[in-house]
Amino acid sequence: MTLEEITRAMGELGEPSFRGKQVFSWLHRGASAFAEMDNLSKPLREKLDGLYYIDRLRAVRKQTSRLDGTVKYLWELGDGSCVETVLMGYRHGNTVCVSSQVGCRMGCAFCASTIGGKVRDLTPSEILGQVLSTQMDSGRQISNIVLMGIGEPMDNLDNVLRFLELVNHPQGMDIGMRHISLSTCGIIPGIRRLAEQRLQLTLSVSLHAPDSETRSRIMPVNRAYDVDELFAACRDYFEQTGRRISFEYAMIDGVNDADWQADLIAKNLRGMPGHVNLIPLNNVAESPLKPSRRTRKFQERLESRGVTATVRRSLGGDIDASCGQLRRKAMEAGEREC
Ligand code: SAH
Repeated sequence: MTLEEITRAMGELGEPSFRGKQVFSWLHRGASAFAEMDNLSKPLREKLDGLYYIDRLRAVRKQTSRLDGTVKYLWELGDGSCVETVLMGYRHGNTVCVSSQVGCRMGCAFCASTIGGKVRDLTPSEILGQVLSTQMDSGRQISNIVLMGIGEPMDNLDNVLRFLELVNHPQGMDIGMRHISLSTCGIIPGIRRLAEQRLQLTLSVSLHAPDSETRSRIMPVNRAYDVDELFAACRDYFEQTGRRISFEYAMIDGVNDADWQADLIAKNLRGMPGHVNLIPLNNVAESPLKPSRRTRKFQERLESRGVTATVRRSLGGDIDASCGQLRRKAMEAGEREC
């Protein structure tokens, strides 16, 4: 619930409006029961307990990388479903990577999150709960959020927008929009809707191929929203928001790593300040796709054509930290239905 909704609910119980702020701030500091809210009267706490519940996530697995300290959580939700969250430490602070859905229905050929399809959308509080629970469990202050975990944020945009409002709230975790990135596989109506919100967050677009033929082969979403229309939507997004877009590009051997594809990216990004983030492909056991051996060459080719390109540093290589791998392992081991 937003602060306004909680305040209204308090009003309906005959309470003054500042009670709304009190409850909101307890929830966003991680209270897991109304009984903890000791600046509310006992009768009010009991009344709230009868009318509402507080949903908290339960950590069913936690793995810490010995290589770089990255932590990966597998959380169990109220209905027994599971999602993953990853905590990464950088010089500029701690970044948390959160999931937006249980599973995913986008079907990208290289991604472990989509193998079992989508189970359901996450609620705003389940997305927020990942940030809050990670901060509380690890004792590390979260300064940045990336919506790059399991699921497609733009296939659950109402709940994602509500989550953004909550996590950005000054009375809540107060994480600035400029410290938040949202990644999409390219759902054009979602990009247009987000542009209208004029948020200062960073939009990341999973490009992975600049030509329709290759992109449709590895990303079925391209059959609905073609890459040429996607580039046009990105251009509009930049013009409307003034925010530079980041393009993700997982380097796949013999599929999307040819020089002509780098040239085509450069051609499409001409006049649009963008940034290409080359990602070394993480091996997914179920997929025949292999990591490219041309990443540096591809980066140089992009740079020589005026495109800023970086290679993403891989973290958590020893803890199944990428894209739905931990959830899949738990499912396969029959540990839980997830
Ligand atoms: N659904 C959203 C966000 C989740 S995926 C999206 O598609 O953008 C976050 C990023 O990881 C995406 O760019 C996705 O394409 C990439 N990714 C998925 N599987 C990967 C793999 N095996 N190796 C490298 N990157 C991968």
